[in-house]
Amino acid sequence: MSTPLESCCGNRAEQVTSQIRPRDRGPAPCLVCGASGTAVEHRTLLHMLRPDRVGRLGDREFRFCDAPGCDTVYFSVDGEVSFGTADLRERVGLKTTGDPQAPVCYCFGFTVGDLEADVRLGRTPTAVGRIREMVKARQCVCEVRNPSGRCCLGEIARIARPSNSEKG
Ligand SMILES: [Zn+2]
Repeated sequence: MSTPLESCCGNRAEQVTSQIRPRDRGPAPCLVCGASGTAVEHRTLLHMLRPDRVGRLGDREFRFCDAPGCDTVYFSVDGEVSFGTADLRERVGLKTTGDPQAPVCYCFGFTVGDLEADVRLGRTPTAVGRIREMVKARQCVCEVRNPSGRCCLGEIARIARPSNSEKG
């Protein structure tokens, strides 16, 4: 109960996961770049995909590719279907580089630029602080708003770490 809040979706994700055989929920390599893709619910895809793409889902298991250099966002474990950034209604911040308007928190609308400005201007409360508060108040719906289907706080922590921007 007293552990710090790092994600709003962990408990719910566990509930869903427990209903499905574990081997079906493990990571799978992206069909295009080979990066390890994490499990994503159909519910998330239904919200993210353009309406005319939804019919391709079938009853396949999908994974989310978070590799910034890869245009593939979702791919099926059976290797039959993949969806790129153009197949989504939502811009995927992870797949966008160098744009301060790229979204990072989809529930509350914070961008990469917001996070950078916090650091540059020393603003408080920071966007991360405000997101944590709202997550704590359970005002987020990451499983349908965030393309990854997961809470944005992990990804934000990655962006907010200054050393990361130095890497190619
Ligand atoms: Zn990929």
